[in-house]
Amino acid sequence: MAQPAPVLTQCAVHAMIRKRARFSAPGERRNGMKKFECPCGYVYDPQVGDPEGGIAPGTAFEDIPEDWVCPICGLGKDAFTEV
Ligand SMILES: [Zn+2]
Repeated sequence: MAQPAPVLTQCAVHAMIRKRARFSAPGERRNGMKKFECPCGYVYDPQVGDPEGGIAPGTAFEDIPEDWVCPICGLGKDAFTEV
């Protein structure tokens, strides 16, 4: 039990670094600026945001708080699909 597992540790650190790099990579931001559509027909456009819902223009869909709901029908983010 006291024996270290160097390979496993290295892998875990590696995975952590790779995960971080993915989040901070500038190129990935484009993926976050996609439009998402609600079943009711409302489309969330990151460039427009949802000022009435407290979402500033330029906010990626992923960055919207989890408690945000569709301004039209009140469904949560889970109901939205990528356009
Ligand atoms: Zn809706």
